[in-house]
Amino acid sequence: MSNLSYVTPHADSPWQTYLSQVDRVLPYLGSLAKWGETLKRPKRALIVDVPIELDNGTVRHFEGYRVQHNLSRGPGKGGVRYHPDVTLEEVMALSAWMTIKCAGVGLPYGGAKGGIRVDPKALSMKELERMTRRYTSEIGIIIGPQRDIPAPDVNTNGQIMAWMMDTYSMNTGSTATGVVTGKPIHLGGSLGRVKATGRGVFVTGREAARRINLNLDGARIAVQGMGNVGSSAAELFVQAGAKLVAVQDHTGTLVNPNGFDMADTMEVLKRDGGIANYKNAERIDNEAFWDVDCDILIPAALEGQITAARANRLKAKLVLEGANGPTLPDADDVMHDRGILVVPDVICNAGGVTVSYFEWVQDFSSFFWSEDEINVRLDKIMVDALRHIYETSEKHKITLRTATFAVACERILIAREERGLYP
Ligand code: GLU
Repeated sequence: MSNLSYVTPHADSPWQTYLSQVDRVLPYLGSLAKWGETLKRPKRALIVDVPIELDNGTVRHFEGYRVQHNLSRGPGKGGVRYHPDVTLEEVMALSAWMTIKCAGVGLPYGGAKGGIRVDPKALSMKELERMTRRYTSEIGIIIGPQRDIPAPDVNTNGQIMAWMMDTYSMNTGSTATGVVTGKPIHLGGSLGRVKATGRGVFVTGREAARRINLNLDGARIAVQGMGNVGSSAAELFVQAGAKLVAVQDHTGTLVNPNGFDMADTMEVLKRDGGIANYKNAERIDNEAFWDVDCDILIPAALEGQITAARANRLKAKLVLEGANGPTLPDADDVMHDRGILVVPDVICNAGGVTVSYFEWVQDFSSFFWSEDEINVRLDKIMVDALRHIYETSEKHKITLRTATFAVACERILIAREERGLYP
């Protein structure tokens, strides 16, 4: 449990999930464990009021956050989420997972995250722009190309990053493309960034599947959440010969044991923003998604989806966490006992921030790489990181999650120790 006065203990909250993941790794950190408390509190958390004028002339206030969990290894890095359920504690957990993720793949960043408690679908484009600009201005006191670099997350995209970059640049007086990543290509964005997270899920999934002798050709995939991450990962698995047999999103749950047609699926998602109207599949009850016969399950939506009860029902042999924090700690134990291999979020979905790093480097050098170069470098980083984590998990007989935490926390806490306590 947390000993921070501003945290309310909810057993299944993302922050509590994160804390119990840290507790599991402390025994493997040797003398570095003395710095363990560093990981259990964010370095800095900013809460901002975001007032905007709506199109109808009334004023509305939104709650915004930017949390910098740890900056030992470099500037803060992490997305901005727009969702009605966003809370300070959720953003704290997401920022902490960014710290682990960046260290786990060896990027020179700390971890940060931001969010606004809002349903963006209820706003017009102009309102969305005003809210984004005011939020950026408010968090402008702690972000910057060398301080903390936001990026897209749930319900944010390249256009929102463009407004953030412009607002920050207007406030500081010079165009600062490196202040955010995930920007449109003409504003210093990187080729391959949009699909990078899904690609990382595919690459780590392919490597994990090979290790458990699961052939991707003909493998049955179930995906929860068909946003950017879920849909890009599904496309790559289908290209590799797998069959997409179940899809769940906010509009419903559909199954087809013969496989979804990927082109039609993408068309429906683009047209409707949800899967519900896809024709060649049967609609089932949402809860039945967890019983679907499949080989690979990809949770790519929100936190806390795989509970212990659901973990007991899963048919999959391999779980690839495209989302951040989809699995509760008890469920991790259930899946471990049942012999289900879980590639945890903190490595599985690190492809996005890896190409964000490439984007940031390209912005500084004003020299841009080809999409092939990006993908080759991304694949290599993901394959090498997974190999190292896999070997760590075998050496200590621990799950891939605890192994990723072990690799990452060691790097973070060595940096902590070498920098020393100030003053
Ligand atoms: N929001 C993404 C994540 O959770 C990407 C963050 C980034 O690119 O900085 O990893």
